[in-house]
Amino acid sequence: MTLTEKDSQYLWHPYTQHKTAQAPIAISRGEGALLWDENGKEYIDAIASWWVNPFGHSNTFIANAIYKQLTTLEHVLFGGFTHEPAIKVAEKLIEILPKNQQKIFFSDNGSTAVEVAIKVALQYFFNKNEKRTTIIAFENAFHGDTFAAMAASGISFYTQAFQGMFIDVVRIPVPVKGKEQESFDALKNVIEKHNCAGFIFEPLVQGAAGMVMYEPEALAKLIQICAANNVLTIADEVMTGFGKTGKTFAMDYVSENPDMVCLSKALTGGTIPMAITTFTQEVFDAFYDDDINKALFHGHTFTANPTGCAAALASMELLQTEEMQANIKRINASHLNFQKKIEKHSKVITARTLGVIFAVEIKSDSVESYYGSMRTKLYNFFIEKGVVLRPVGNIVYILPPYIMTDEQLSKVYKTIEEAIEMV
Ligand SMILES: *Cc1c(COP(=O)(O)O)cnc(C)c1O
Repeated sequence: MTLTEKDSQYLWHPYTQHKTAQAPIAISRGEGALLWDENGKEYIDAIASWWVNPFGHSNTFIANAIYKQLTTLEHVLFGGFTHEPAIKVAEKLIEILPKNQQKIFFSDNGSTAVEVAIKVALQYFFNKNEKRTTIIAFENAFHGDTFAAMAASGISFYTQAFQGMFIDVVRIPVPVKGKEQESFDALKNVIEKHNCAGFIFEPLVQGAAGMVMYEPEALAKLIQICAANNVLTIADEVMTGFGKTGKTFAMDYVSENPDMVCLSKALTGGTIPMAITTFTQEVFDAFYDDDINKALFHGHTFTANPTGCAAALASMELLQTEEMQANIKRINASHLNFQKKIEKHSKVITARTLGVIFAVEIKSDSVESYYGSMRTKLYNFFIEKGVVLRPVGNIVYILPPYIMTDEQLSKVYKTIEEAIEMV
């Protein structure tokens, strides 16, 4: 049996209707921006394997750091114990995060990073004897698949089976160009009508919605409104973190600082699952008390796994090299060139770029659903051509590893142009 055949016997895949889905492709090797399947076919990974891999597959610098840590201290419980890799990650993050971030809490994935932030926002007010139980989130937000993260997510198709079982979430429009005032007014109105504890947002780019972008000035204004009303702000940088937007964090473009930041995805360079939620001293202090009930009773078995920490340290070191920063600028310039060319195409509605993120919306006769027919046609075309791209409805986006070569990028652009002609 091939790997693909064995897979269908044993495995259940994410976001997959197994009755209608095509068999998955078995990947046996990865190097740089390339992947090879079990038959030796080569693919360009143009979405960095769901946005986790900035430095390329099988990166030896990160692999060596992991090996060294595995043979020194692979893991130790973090309840009652600590270790140097966790402390070094915290020191490094506090140096590079928005200036007000002072405390670091580890978990395992983007959803748990969000789960922790939402629980902290709710308990913050509980600890202060204030009744605030509503979370504010954007329309079409994506914050993960665990329960509180799912509640905050606005892509209904992921969450429809669970309606009525969620914490209280109220949605406001995203302040995309021309809709800023509507968004500000909605936020003020929501804060007036509900007992709001926190506002969670994907800063500047909504990834899962199809790389929807909005301006830093609008986000600054929303944060100011929250701050004036004592509503905690949560920047979900799970997708945008670690260079994707052209700065280390999307929040680096924004004049106001958030109360909490969620990190995962590229944190370990796409090697080991790990996540972090960070907090201001002021948030931490609301839990600091002689009363044990005011503590944050949240934890995961593999909290601050030293091997994950070693991978994160190596990744952050790579990100800060001149070479990697130059790569990010090179890809951004290349995207902007492609955008100029493609946005004039008669079948293109619009195209947009921020950092290494590029998205193009293709004209479609019908309203394209998330997994609609155009999406399937596009996806299959890309795979056949050996390019890994996962369109969101009629939106095709690129989020390449920073080490992708100009030649590989050109092939990705050319394949997208052909796809636009084809659909
Ligand atoms: C992917 C993502 C998450 C969820 O992360 P998982 O590791 O898949 O649980 C949360 N927020 C944002 C913005 C994401 O892009």
